[in-house]
Order: sequence, then structure tokens, then C-alpha cells
Amino acid sequence: MSGLILKNIDKHYGAACAVSDVNLHLPAGKLVCFLGPSGCGKTTLLRMIAGLETISAGEIRLDGEDIGDTPAHRRDFGMVFQSLALFPHMTVGENIAYPLKLRGVSKADQQARVTELLQLIQLQDMLDRPVAKLSGGQRQRVAIARAIAARPKLLLLDEPLSALDAKLRESMQVEIRQLQRQLNITTIMVTHDQSEAMTMADIVVVLGEHRIQQIGSPIDIYRNPANAFVADFIGNGNIFPATALGDGTVGLPGGDVVRVPQGEGIERGTAIRMLVRPEDLQLSQSQAAGDNCLQGVVTFVRDVGATIETVVECSGVSLTALSTPSQSIPLTLGDPVSVTLPMQACRVLRA
Ligand code: ADP
Ligand code: MG
Repeated sequence: MSGLILKNIDKHYGAACAVSDVNLHLPAGKLVCFLGPSGCGKTTLLRMIAGLETISAGEIRLDGEDIGDTPAHRRDFGMVFQSLALFPHMTVGENIAYPLKLRGVSKADQQARVTELLQLIQLQDMLDRPVAKLSGGQRQRVAIARAIAARPKLLLLDEPLSALDAKLRESMQVEIRQLQRQLNITTIMVTHDQSEAMTMADIVVVLGEHRIQQIGSPIDIYRNPANAFVADFIGNGNIFPATALGDGTVGLPGGDVVRVPQGEGIERGTAIRMLVRPEDLQLSQSQAAGDNCLQGVVTFVRDVGATIETVVECSGVSLTALSTPSQSIPLTLGDPVSVTLPMQACRVLRA
């Protein structure tokens, strides 16, 4: 099978588990994000793929071939670390040419490739500039150009944007994604930033507690989180306890009953957790009625221009609703309000 396959990968440091039971197929040409909180094993997993770390158990295959014993420098992968690790005393051109020089590529071919890459990253005029004199975003692009210079089979990025400020990070996310698509290079990117993963990835691998929690497209993971960990980690969610009533409905802590899509199969009395995304909640003037419509009181309002966040206390839970100015109704602290939890937007989560 083409692409990268990880089979039953384990990594232990002494008795401590860093990564456990990882199974994954990464199709050629795709961008995959390893997403998870700090310490969950993202870097360890990436370093095992790179060959910089041994695997304790399991198998790594690239295009059908077992590469578990192949040393890092023979894997032909390009890598960008969080620190970038550019050579500060060298120029932009020398940095990019470095992996080519290591491989014994002729001077003329090195020059041609560097010219081509400088065009790609739009730093044509920077060939002879020392990297110490570049801006953060420019350094970022040079690090990526160096990583892809020798046309690697796989590009591995470990939180490459985490040192940049928010605005630059967002534009670099788009830039890297466009470059990846243009070159069609199979890429794995590690991040702890869920919006970065949502922006960039074809496939998101959510890691937590040293294991894979879910694999899916960004929208799938957002809409259909496999468990409470994923629901909580991805996006803003209202997650609250409820009790299954066995007939397609659940009871909220305050006694109200709402209908949920997957409620039928759950035994009456089972304690569950519910997820409703803030943008799915519908607020209306108080005493509205209808399916899944609850009565509550406004406890917080924050208008940040593009969106309005309203917190409503209802049926023993505190729900956050997000609306745009055109959707919103005028509400202030203490106002009574009706909240609808549309059935299709309700998710039942396993604890
Ligand atoms: P992440 O990149 O997701 O923040 P890491 O892969 O760096 O997480 O670390 C995963 C776990 O493995 C952590 O608990 C970390 O302390 C542990 N770990 C990583 N590298 C080593 C090492 N060389 N020796 C011992 N423990 C390590
Ligand atoms: Mg890390």
C-alpha cells in the first residue's frame, strides 16, 4: 500500500509510556496533523517516523517497505523543528543548499535548485543575506525550503509556527498549506493548536493520554467527536452531564428533557455527557416554545464586534451561545431568554 503506515507503535522510556498502540495510514500527498496537548507524545511519534528515535514495538512502512531499521539519514525525509535549527552564520542560499551539498549534488545543480526554491518561497532577493538578518516569517520559509530542497518523500514539521505571533502564524499556515498542495508532498505536522490543525490538515489525528483518540477530517472531528476528550479539546463546546431516559431523550440536571439523535440505544438511567456547540444554540425572546426549547436567564454578554457571546443559565447548566450581529437579539444581564438546542446539534458523549 502506498503512503506511510504505522502499525501497533509503542514507545516506552523505562517504565513510562510516551506513545501507545498507534495505528495509522497516511495516504501519499496528504497533510496530516498530529494534534494534542503538551506531553501526549506528538514529538516522540514524529521522531520515530523520522528515525531519530527507536520504536519499542510495532512497524513503520513507507510505500510497502519496512523502514523501522533504516537510519534517519537514509529515510530521505525533510524535517523542520520548532527551533528551526537554521545555521545562523550561513546565508539563506547556503542554508537551503546544505542538504544538497551533503548528498554530493554538483555546484551548478545546487544553484539551480536554490534559485527555484527561492522563487517558490518568494525570497528571490535574499540569496546572500545571513539568516540572522531575516524576520521570523522569512526564517520560517527558509527552514521549509531547506527541508524540501532534496525532494524528500515525507515532510515532517514539529510545531514550526509556535514562535511566531498570532497574525503571522495565521498567514504562514495558509502559505505552508498552499505550498504543500502545490508540491503535493506528503506532510506530517505536529501542533497543539486546534485552529491550526483545522486550517491546514486533510486528516487530523487527535492524540491524548499517549494514544490516538480519533482520526478524521477536521470537520468530522469537530462535528462528530469520538469521545469527551476530543469534544473538549476541539473548539469551544458546551459539555454538561445528563441522564439517558431510554426513549431518545435525555434529562438535564434541572429536570428539563431534550431529544437527542443517538438517544434510543442508551439504557434508561445511564449517566452521559452532552455536547452542543455555541454556534448551534438559538436564543429567542423569553417564553418561546418548541422542541428542545428551554427557559433561562442571561448571566454574561460579551460583544467583540464580529461575534456576540451570551451565557445563559438554564436547567442547571451554564450554556454559552455564539451569534453574529445580524442573528443576535438585544439581551442584557439578568434578562429571561429561551434557548433552543436543535436536536441534530446535540451529541451524546461517552464519558
Ligand atoms: P509532546 O510533543 O506531545 O508535547 P513528547 O513526545 O515530547 O510530547 O513527550 C511524550 C512523553 O514522553 C512525555 O511524558 C515526555 O516526558 C516523555 N519523554 C519524551 N522524551 C523523553 C526522553 N528522551 N526520556 C524520557 N521521557 C521522555
Ligand atoms: Mg512536542
